[in-house]
Amino acid sequence: MSNNCCRRCLRGISRRIPCFVAWSLLIVLSTIYFIFICPWITNHLWKYIPLIQGLILLFVIENFFLATFTDPGRYSRAPPDENDDSETTFHKTVEIHGTQCRMKWCQTCGFYRPPRCSHCSVCDFCIDTFDHHCPWLNNCVGRRNYRYFICFLLSVLFHMYVVISFCIYYLLKNHENLSNLNTIISIILIIFIILLTIPIGGLTAFHFMLIIRGRTTNEQVTGKFKSNINPFDYGCLYNCSKIFSSSNSPKLIHNKKPSTKKSYEVQKVKNKNGTNKVIK
Ligand SMILES: [Zn+2]
Ligand SMILES: [Zn+2]
Repeated sequence: MSNNCCRRCLRGISRRIPCFVAWSLLIVLSTIYFIFICPWITNHLWKYIPLIQGLILLFVIENFFLATFTDPGRYSRAPPDENDDSETTFHKTVEIHGTQCRMKWCQTCGFYRPPRCSHCSVCDFCIDTFDHHCPWLNNCVGRRNYRYFICFLLSVLFHMYVVISFCIYYLLKNHENLSNLNTIISIILIIFIILLTIPIGGLTAFHFMLIIRGRTTNEQVTGKFKSNINPFDYGCLYNCSKIFSSSNSPKLIHNKKPSTKKSYEVQKVKNKNGTNKVIK
């Protein structure tokens, strides 16, 4: 095996580690709770608690899975013969709802990036409505999986608060027996999950601020609409409903490794005078 191949292999494995850690934390902590704390809660409070918590956990896993494995909105690269290296204009201007937006030429993909599109250096693809590359998902968060990402954050936070509440209840009722294994486990779960809720809660609040303002993380961090009006801000209510109730956009690519001319679906946006009108 060549050195290059080894390096690529190691990079691939290291990229998957945070995702593996996130899945392990979710499954292991939930299993410990269901084995050690939940039976006592069921006997002393309500017999349907494990069923309801199980359904919540299933919803968390479903959204985590979809956010991890859904195509975030990858664009195909232009075929080599259409990837015009002699291109000298690196920006073009388009008008969106009366606001001038610049489209940058992507040298890797060979087309002008549509507004809100950005090239992810980790995935090496241009992503539609790029939000950020999430190492915990080992995937980009973009137009096609943003809803799953938000639903995952909300549901996992809810799941964690419910688990913490029942662990605290268990601890209050069994505090006279601190050497008991279940009591020790409930203390460990409380500390561990509280530490996890701080960054996850902060991230969820940050994304809700972005949704209300009609922005992506990338646009917020790069200060894209600092000086001009954000043409993608349709007002708080519409911005929220767009995320949670609009139908999922179709795939832009059908082959992850576009190596033949046939597999390309060119997303080139070009014209001669350098000005396009885009209506989203
Ligand atoms: Zn690109
Ligand atoms: Zn990425």
